[in-house]
Amino acid sequence: MYLKRIEIAGFKSFADRTIIEFNQGLTAVVGPNGSGKSNITEAIRWVLGEQSAKNLRGGTMPDVIFAGSSSRAPLNLAEVTLVLDNEERFLPIDFSEVSVTRRLTRSGDSDFFINKQSCRLKDIVNLFMDSGLGKESFSIISQGKVESIFNSKPEDRRGIFEEAAGVLKYKTRKKEAERR
Ligand code: ATP
Ligand code: MG
Repeated sequence: MYLKRIEIAGFKSFADRTIIEFNQGLTAVVGPNGSGKSNITEAIRWVLGEQSAKNLRGGTMPDVIFAGSSSRAPLNLAEVTLVLDNEERFLPIDFSEVSVTRRLTRSGDSDFFINKQSCRLKDIVNLFMDSGLGKESFSIISQGKVESIFNSKPEDRRGIFEEAAGVLKYKTRKKEAERR
């Protein structure tokens, strides 16, 4: 499974519909400060189910919608689609290609789609559960996170490694079992 393409429209600095194609292997995105590199990773995190506006550097969720610039009026709709290769059926859905879309209007209406079929946020979260790609996983490490990993106490840092290694869910289950 790999990310083939991302389509961004009206999300943060991407006012115009922008399609970014990725190939298998390593991709680097370079550009001046403020040109929108982090906004791309936030768009990915948003589609994967991020529900905290703060984690997307905003106050409320509609802050992700293009807010206008000196030459352009604000927009009322943000839409992001991820297209993933699923030839090997890594995601538990019987399609060789999977598209996942999230849409939000300024009035707060949200819509979610898997392969263009309307679905719930929960269906998207479930699709990526155990794939290592969910919004809580360490497949996306933001600028701030790098610092917090360096500066954290050894016990907290250990927690990060445990989560990345998949140990944390067993620890949580053990704790739950002991409480019974
Ligand atoms: P750096 O190299 O400093 O990390 P970057 O390439 O990661 O920069 P981003 O943080 O992705 O840059 O982009 C920041 C830009 O996005 C700012 O110019 C900001 O004004 C713009 N931006 C953020 N949210 C919105 C929004 N809702 N509407 C319009 N522009 C936005
Ligand atoms: Mg950045």
